[in-house]
Amino acid sequence: MKIPVCEPSLGPKELEYVADCVKTNWISSKGKYVTEFEERFSAFCGAKYGVSTSSGTTAIHLALATLGVGRGDEVVLPTLTHCCCANMVVLTGARPILVDSEDETWNIDVDKIVEKLTGRTKVIMPVHLYGHPADMDPILDLAEDRDLCVVADSAEAHGAEYKGQRVGGMGDLECFSFYANKIITTGEGGMIVTNNQELAEKAAMLRDQAYEKERRFLHRVIGFNYRMTNLQAAIGVAQMEKIDRFIEARRRNAHLYNSLLEQVEGIKLPPETEWAKNVYWMYSILVEDSFGLSRDELASYLKERGVETRPFFYPIHLQPIYAENYQWGSCPVAEELSQQGMNLPSAATLGRKEIEYVTSCLSAAKRR
Ligand SMILES: *Cc1c(COP(=O)(O)O)cnc(C)c1O
Repeated sequence: MKIPVCEPSLGPKELEYVADCVKTNWISSKGKYVTEFEERFSAFCGAKYGVSTSSGTTAIHLALATLGVGRGDEVVLPTLTHCCCANMVVLTGARPILVDSEDETWNIDVDKIVEKLTGRTKVIMPVHLYGHPADMDPILDLAEDRDLCVVADSAEAHGAEYKGQRVGGMGDLECFSFYANKIITTGEGGMIVTNNQELAEKAAMLRDQAYEKERRFLHRVIGFNYRMTNLQAAIGVAQMEKIDRFIEARRRNAHLYNSLLEQVEGIKLPPETEWAKNVYWMYSILVEDSFGLSRDELASYLKERGVETRPFFYPIHLQPIYAENYQWGSCPVAEELSQQGMNLPSAATLGRKEIEYVTSCLSAAKRR
């Protein structure tokens, strides 16, 4: 058996809609699928506007640029996330301020945000890690008190719920990714979702070279080409028809994993707090000392048996490009999560057989 950590699920509809783009010659970012995908995905999130982009990374940069974040500003974000979150802050000219994780959800520790706020803070950027939403209410309250914006990185949490509300419509701007391993995919692609019309219009303008409305090729501000193509959006529209099933499959698989692993000493199961619906973008476990093998030893053991895994993100504050401002031990929770955390195969296409195989290999590794 060979079981990848993630893979997309594409079908005849994706092919049909892409073929439609080719047959009708609508292959750039102009075309009906782009608008349809933006409308359907933002509605799915319970938000009014969707601004599609070329990737999740460009969605984050575009969101920060839309809020006017730049030199002299600070953006507060968790250290345990994809490094692109901090990189996009740097790209605007602002400074990323990295915060430790909390044990309970593995997301940004809200209590530790307060001590990082300064007069220069402009944005708080929570990340819904591996499909579990961050605790948004205290973050939104804090932002309101201090007159800050909230840009959520929802790249791993399509359909995840916070107190019954889907992520996407809570922050000022929320950024999604549709990379091939995400919950739905367009190959490469992303989207900003928002309820704020003014911000949606500004994001769409900056995404499209910041053309002035009254005079094309007149530029008053610096814009980007971060547009999604009709070809990508065509795949996105087809994926929207299946998104509920994809999420159900991931949750069903996570529950099966939980039942098969809950007895294994030294394995900590992924969180799901009472206020959250986790969509388990990745089925993530912690390999604790009492397991007997380290996370990396277990990963090699599984790899030899055809089971692909991923280690958790490497904390940004320890990345060679950021480490000069930080030290080991400055974010102890994130550091431990990063050493013990492992993503098991998580694709929506997995069935009971594959998951039983993965967990039987894992248990055998412990007995060895
Ligand atoms: C995937 C991901 C991104 C980047 O998305 P791309 O579409 O690959 O650029 C950003 N943040 C997080 C948390 C992600 O998982």
